[in-house]
Parts: sequence; C-alpha cells; structure tokens
Amino acid sequence: MLVLEEVSAAYDGVQVLYDISLRLEQGEIVCVIGANGAGKTTILRTISGLLAPIAGRIWFENTRIDRLPPHAIARRGIAHVPEGRRIFDQLTVEENLRMGAFLLQDWHQVREAFDHVYQIFPILFQRRGQRAGTLSGGEQQMLAIARGLMSNPKLLLLDEPSLGLAPKVIDMLFEVILNLNRLGRTILLVEQNASRALEIAHRAYVLEVGRVTLSGPARELQENEYVRRAYLGM
Ligand code: ATP
Repeated sequence: MLVLEEVSAAYDGVQVLYDISLRLEQGEIVCVIGANGAGKTTILRTISGLLAPIAGRIWFENTRIDRLPPHAIARRGIAHVPEGRRIFDQLTVEENLRMGAFLLQDWHQVREAFDHVYQIFPILFQRRGQRAGTLSGGEQQMLAIARGLMSNPKLLLLDEPSLGLAPKVIDMLFEVILNLNRLGRTILLVEQNASRALEIAHRAYVLEVGRVTLSGPARELQENEYVRRAYLGM
C-alpha cells in the first residue's frame, strides 16, 4: 500500500532522515520506534507532504506521491493525526470533527462519517457539544484520531498517540487502535513507547538518528536482545 524508497529529508539544509526504506501492506499495523529526535515525526510529515523529501521516492497504491501537495495526498486516502493532537480548543467536539470531513462531498457522506466515529468513540457522542479544550487528555487524543477518521482514510498515520497519557488511558486507546485495524484500517504508528507499540503492531522499524537500524515482525523485535535493552528497559 505504501512504499518509501531511500527517502532522505532535511530542515533548512540540516539532514535528519537518511535513506529510509519502509513498506506497509494493506491491513497492517506497522510501528516505527525510536528515541527523542530520531526522526519519527519527520517520516510522517514526509509521507503526508508537509515536508518534501530531498531524495528518494514514496508510493501509495502504486502512485508516486512524494511531489504532491498535502491536500492531494489527503485526498488519496492518507490521514495524519499529529503529535500533540492539535485540536481546536475553542471549538466543540462536533465542530472539530466537521473540520476533519473537509474532503467529503455531500452531507450524506458527512452524516455517515459522524455515525462511524460516534460508534467507535461513544464518549465523543456524549461530549459532542463540549468545548474540545475542556476534554481530558485521553478524550482529546480520541478526538484527534476521530477527526482523522472523518475523511474515511485508507491509511492512518498516528504520531505518538500515547504521549502524556496515564497507563490505563493508553490501554484503552491502544485497544481502539487495534479495533480500527480489525475494521480494516491500515495504520502507521510512531511511538516512543516501544513496548506498547510492539504489542499491537504486526511489523516494526527501529529508527536511530534518522536511519532504520532494524526491522522485522513485532514479535521478533520484542525478543531481540538489543531492542529489549535499548527500548524495552529489560
Ligand atoms: P520526538 O519523539 O521527540 O517527537 P522524533 O523522533 O519525532 O522525536 P523529529 O521530530 O522527526 O523526531 O525530529 C528529528 C530531528 O529534526 C530532530 O533533531 C529535530 O530537532 C529536527 N527538527 C524537527 N522539526 C524541525 C524543524 N521544523 N526545523 C528544524 N529542525 C527540526
């Protein structure tokens, strides 16, 4: 579904990604784990077109997308849920969700998208008239994911959804991510929380200082001696 071939990226001439090759099959959850500043967010920004790669190629469903603007990439079916949620605090839950539906053509599709996300996140239905800034951290993360789902994407890019959340809330959130995958959604998850991410992913990549240093089935990486020491605190 998604292929990155030797992708490199830089900010203001300073290179932060080096020859990243990565692939995602339809129906998978793939995670990218790595320390602070390894370049995880930059990979997602490069896929969604917010940052043009300086080298390499990105393919989505056999179409090259690395020179397309973000809106054209979103239109092809990729939704990016950014780190830190970036919801509109002053708007209600429902208004935030409507923002996520900007790609949909008619009210019927929008209604279906609302029904779908309210089914997955009943708490957001209960809170639909509440200002988003007054939601709890976990609810805000659910809103951010739900907003991404409003465009009915084929591929969901999730940037550190567990950031700043309590362990119990993370449990719930990861259960939701698993559920979305069971319903057919393909997911690329980047996480510092390697142990949680490896539990739900099919395959994983380890990113270190802008380079992929290891990859494989998540189960194998969980057993890998280096990963256990460096990322799982064992
Ligand atoms: P974290 O988990 O802390 O978010 P990350 O793995 O997502 O880290 P990135 O945010 O992709 O890492 O950052 C990779 C490198 O690029 C870092 O050295 C960071 O300082 C740098 N960087 C990120 N955004 C910018 C920017 N807008 N301008 C300049 N440098 C940036």
